[in-house]
Amino acid sequence: MIDTHSHIYQEEYDVDRAEVIAHARNKHVSKVVLANVDSTTIEPMKRTANEYPDFCSMAMGVHPTSVTADNYADELLAARAELANGSYCAIGEIGVDLYWDKTYVKEQINVFETQLDWAVELNLPVIIHTRKAFAEVFASFAKFKGKSLRGVFHCFGGGIEEARKVLSLGDFFLGIGGVVTYKNSSLPTILEHIGLEHILLETDAPYLSPVPYRGKRNEPQFLEQISEKLAEIYKVLPEKVDEETTKNAQYLLFSI
Ligand SMILES: [Zn+2]
Repeated sequence: MIDTHSHIYQEEYDVDRAEVIAHARNKHVSKVVLANVDSTTIEPMKRTANEYPDFCSMAMGVHPTSVTADNYADELLAARAELANGSYCAIGEIGVDLYWDKTYVKEQINVFETQLDWAVELNLPVIIHTRKAFAEVFASFAKFKGKSLRGVFHCFGGGIEEARKVLSLGDFFLGIGGVVTYKNSSLPTILEHIGLEHILLETDAPYLSPVPYRGKRNEPQFLEQISEKLAEIYKVLPEKVDEETTKNAQYLLFSI
């Protein structure tokens, strides 16, 4: 399996990162994609990727909740300089987040669209983070019609209409993580209408641990619980989920 979205470079793992990776490998997780947040996470992310080069790949981008009116130009410069060295498999995580704060919505959209431009220019997939902002994100995508963007809506949290709209954008996938195992999640019902060929597995570690680890630090090895839940939803064996979603991840993130 491939954990397509993880932050195991964060300090939560400084004491036991080697073990966390060993446990993941024992559970047949062969790779993780480390998603960048902003200029402060670049160094720790690169350090982790350098230490475990066969296990970690990296995505570079500026996260919407890190954007302010004062800093966004510098944040974009830092991410763009990194992308120039060619060691990234995707642009991410990028998007619009109006859940916590709407103050910088204009700047968030500007930063998002600048990075969509880079994705076109560099022919890289995008890892989208969106919360309470599907309308804004789809409005930005409308400006890129015909530019063959591809990517994943990480930790997909929309309804069936949004899911269909994401898939209508072209080569796009839904990133599914621990939330699908939560008791009140509407994801299982939505996924009944969405084929496994559109799904990527992810943890978003250290956040959003699946049941029965909810509330604890998340780890890539918990992809097992997510895969088992998907197997239940799709009425297939977990091995089938692993095989299909790994194929999807390879196609989207590692085909170049
Ligand atoms: Zn993330």
